[in-house]
Order: sequence, then structure tokens, then C-alpha cells
Amino acid sequence: MIRMSELAIHGGAPIRKTLLPYGKQSIDETDVEAVAEALRSEFLTTGPLVDKFERVFAEMVGAKYAVAVSSGTAALHAAASAAGLRAGDNAIVPPMSFVATANCVRYVGASVLFADVIPETLTLSTEKTARLVTAQTKAIVTVDYAGQPSDLEDLTTIAHRHGLVLIEDAAHALGATYHGRPVGSIADLTTFSLHPVKHITTGEGGVVATNDSSLATHLKAFRNHGIKVDYKQREKGMTWFYDVEGIGYNYRITDIQCALGLSQLKRLKLWIDRRRVIARAYDRAFAELPGVKPLVQLPDRESVFHLYVVLLDLNQFRAGRSEIFSALRAENIGVNVHYIPIPWHQCYRDLGFRPGQWPNAEGAYERMLSLPIFPAMMDDDVGDVITAVRKVVAYYRK
Ligand SMILES: *Cc1c(COP(=O)(O)O)cnc(C)c1O
Repeated sequence: MIRMSELAIHGGAPIRKTLLPYGKQSIDETDVEAVAEALRSEFLTTGPLVDKFERVFAEMVGAKYAVAVSSGTAALHAAASAAGLRAGDNAIVPPMSFVATANCVRYVGASVLFADVIPETLTLSTEKTARLVTAQTKAIVTVDYAGQPSDLEDLTTIAHRHGLVLIEDAAHALGATYHGRPVGSIADLTTFSLHPVKHITTGEGGVVATNDSSLATHLKAFRNHGIKVDYKQREKGMTWFYDVEGIGYNYRITDIQCALGLSQLKRLKLWIDRRRVIARAYDRAFAELPGVKPLVQLPDRESVFHLYVVLLDLNQFRAGRSEIFSALRAENIGVNVHYIPIPWHQCYRDLGFRPGQWPNAEGAYERMLSLPIFPAMMDDDVGDVITAVRKVVAYYRK
């Protein structure tokens, strides 16, 4: 006989019949119609919808300029280039992020220095960052981990005191605010990802926001082979001539994608509200569950909860994170782990990085779980996650 109380991993009935993923896009018929309309228009790639998407996006994040590109990673690469990073320079990056955050520094030939994160929020520590600044440092790349803005004011102060560029990887943080100001209006360069698990999607896509017109000009050329005149200017001037001053890439986004992006942006506020409701339900449930601690939410900033991360107090359990992870997966709860510390990856070990130097990021990694959170989650889904966490945690409690 299958008993409900028995863990699914031990042959019991799972809490859910189907796997609940940790994140998922929301696409409706208005999105489909918007894309179909773009397909019927004159432009498939760089056309009026790219311009329009950039205008609407810039306004939404409170920036003067938004430059849309083919991915969040391309956005980081473009930002690193615009920041003037090159061989011989270094940039300071948190170890707790997706690898692209650090890779962008290497794309332009510069070196990465890892500064540890703050244990409560897993965002870059200003204090640790300040200690690492050398004469070769050109930039700081901070990450708004899980959707909560990092210490943007202190980081800006440190950056500008030393003449560094502050790049904010806000792949998790579209719509978040810091001291009431939108993410995208604060750092020198802010990058966003439009991957399907992020807040809005264009399939693949990314955006760099800035208030600096010369940085915006660089970004626009960088995504288009280094060519400075765009299709409209050339049409107007009736000229074939262009010069490529600096090497660029084809990181263009398409009109088809921007049609989807524009359609998705209309629901962003609604989706953020829903993510916050889900996060509050988790907060309430886990406040009464010893050993399961959500990240701290600071009162001077508003997260948009790309992720909902809990840290397990492993002293209270007879099992490690990986057993608890597997037990939750068996219950059909699509828990995940964000992230393996960047310097632990082989392509960073090859540079000489060794584990043990970033105790806050590395300690959190051993204890962390991302729980499902996305706007289309129903209240029943949220209830399933809470029930499954309670069930698994009760079993493994010492
Ligand atoms: C998703 C993500 C990226 C990369 O974005 P893509 O659009 O997948 O290239 C970069 N940094 C962070 C923190 C991310 O979560």
C-alpha cells in the first residue's frame, strides 16, 4: 500500500502527479497575434519594432537609452566592451551568479577578480569589493541576485571614487526598485535577459540600459559589427558608405522578437505582483518551519523574485542538501540550485581559482534550494510546494 506520508523517493505517493518547474514563461494569444503581425510586416530583423521596444523598455526602467541585443549574455559582453574593459584590466565580480556574469569580462580579454557576497542576500559585498580594487581595476559587475537589487548606492560610491564603471547584471531584476528608483536608472550600465525563465521573454534576448549617450552609441555599434550608422540613417542619406572603427558582433535582436517583447511588457506589472504574492505565501509558511530560511529582504529595496531561494540549516537535518533536493524532486517539485560558485567551474579552475576563498557564497551554495516561482503558478501549486517542503523536512529532521 502507498502511504501519503511516505516520501515519494522511498516509494510513497508524490505530492504532485506532474513536475512543477522552478520557472516558466507565460504566453497568451495576444503574444501570438503580435508575433504573427510582425511576420506579415516588411521587417523581420532590425526595423521599427526594435526601436519601439527600446523606447518602451527605457521608459519602464527609467533610463535614457535601452539597446536590445540577442541575449542577456550578449548584453553583458556589450556592456563590458562599452565600459572600456580590455586586456590588462580586471573587473570585480561576485562568485554567486550564472557564469555569463564573469565570462563577459574574459570575452574582452580582461581578468576576473571574485569578491564574496553578503550572506543574508547573496549580493556583492561592497566591503569585500573595495578591498580588491587595484590600479588595473576598470569595472565592477554586480548582480541583483534572485531579483533583489544589490547595494547600488555603496557600489556606485566605490566605483566612482576609483574611476570604475559599475555594470549591474539585472537579469533577475526587471521591475525591481532601490530607494524607490527603478533598476536600470542607477548603474552606469544595466543588463537584462529576456530568456523564457526571466520576467518577460523574447525567446532569446537581452537589453543594456544606460543614461550615457556615448555608451549607448558604443552599444549600438557593438551589436552590429561595429557599424555606427543604422539602416534609417543610411536610407535617409542614400549612401552605401560606412566605416568600421572598432570590431563588433552580430548581436542584433529581431523585429519578430521585439513584437513579443512589447506584448509581454504590457503584463510585467501584473506578473511582478503575482510573484510577490507567491513569495509572501512562502515567507509565511517558512516563518514557522525551523531549518528553512528564506533570503533576507532589505527594507530599502523591492525584489521582483525571479527566484525564491531558501537556505537550509543543515545542523537540524540528518541529510544534506542533495538528498533533500532529490526527495523534493521525487515529490514532483522542480527545485533547483542557483548557482554553483563561478570560480568552481573548470574554466575558472584552469585560471588557478581554488575553492575556499569565498565562504559566504560557497557556504550558501551547500545549503541552497530555489523553489518554483513564476506568474502562472496557481494557489494550489504554491500549496503543493509548501506541503512537499514540510513533508520532506519533517522526515529528515534530527
Ligand atoms: C540568465 C542570466 C544571464 C544570461 O542571460 P541569457 O539571456 O541566458 O544569455 C546572465 N546573468 C544572470 C545572472 C542570469 O540569470
